[in-house]
Amino acid sequence: MAVIYNFSAGPGVLPEPVLREVQAEFLSYKQGVSIVEMSHRSDTFATIVEQLEARLRRLMQIPDDYAVLFLQGGATLQFSMVPMNLRESGRFVYLDSGIWSKKAIADAKHYGDVVVAGSSAAVKYRDLPAWPKTISDVDYLHVTLNNTIEGTRYTELPDTGVPIVADVSSNILAEAIDVKRYGLLYAGAQKNIGPAGLTLVIIRRDLIVDRDLPSYLAYSKHVDTLLNTPSTFNLYVAERVLAWVEGEGGVEAMERRNVEKSGLFYDALDASPLFHAVVSGKQRSLTNIPFTTGDAETDRAFQRFAEARGLIELGGHRSVGGLRASLYNAMPLEGVKRLIDVMHEFEQEGQD
Ligand code: PLP
Repeated sequence: MAVIYNFSAGPGVLPEPVLREVQAEFLSYKQGVSIVEMSHRSDTFATIVEQLEARLRRLMQIPDDYAVLFLQGGATLQFSMVPMNLRESGRFVYLDSGIWSKKAIADAKHYGDVVVAGSSAAVKYRDLPAWPKTISDVDYLHVTLNNTIEGTRYTELPDTGVPIVADVSSNILAEAIDVKRYGLLYAGAQKNIGPAGLTLVIIRRDLIVDRDLPSYLAYSKHVDTLLNTPSTFNLYVAERVLAWVEGEGGVEAMERRNVEKSGLFYDALDASPLFHAVVSGKQRSLTNIPFTTGDAETDRAFQRFAEARGLIELGGHRSVGGLRASLYNAMPLEGVKRLIDVMHEFEQEGQD
């Protein structure tokens, strides 16, 4: 069978050895019981969760004064849980750097006054709003560190007097993130960590306050315990994916590979007579790369051409169109080389 390369932005490609391992263990994880039939309170399952957390702490160098929470509801539920839980003055600052941050802003408005300190909406989010020069008297500053749809990323953080909250759904474990510079990080797992249905929250413990909130929505109810039945299968797969990441050399190795893969692809786009990258300069994402021929019909023709050659999920997000290649940790360099070859083939013969 021909090799398939999956460039999906999410759920994204997972390491094949992990998928094989999961398949092999699925019917009988222990004594004839499948992992999806096992109590989340059993010793066996508790060990999986402990190992998952330990691996994440090692990989991201998470300090002890941060709690790790394994939740559900996607990154989208964090758009609400963050303002609900961090609300003191009821004033929040947001950077509007893309469609996901716009959604985060819309949800935060239910819980307080949102100050949008910068927006690149006017340039269709092709670059990033600058960090605000000064901020005070607000509960936090929210940023989407990697903009999955638009393909931009922040590489520098300002020194602010307020906690920085970052949505790291599409760059967690793909590049180094200096956890101690943030008050809170959150990510849907379905790009670099495992199947959809698990959300990670890494929060500095002093920001966890007991609030009068429905139990599931309060961070304080999830700290150092499983409040309810978690997405057990997802936790199990995530633990295996993190074992793979550690085995491959950790986040440093992932970042090095992602720099190499994305660099190769950006170079090919910059040299192409037909395709070009949508984002320029050092704001370019390592993981999500939107590109286009400048013509919607030709973009669609290329997508079909690539699909016929085993390169799938190259369509841009439905809200922006064009093309996009997501190069998460499990995408091998060979996949990027193959994509570049197919682009060359299309440039030469595919346009009639
Ligand atoms: N934030 C970012 C940066 C994303 O890329 C996504 C999904 O792709 C989301 C939020 C929404 O995540 P979820 O579907 O897990 O709610």
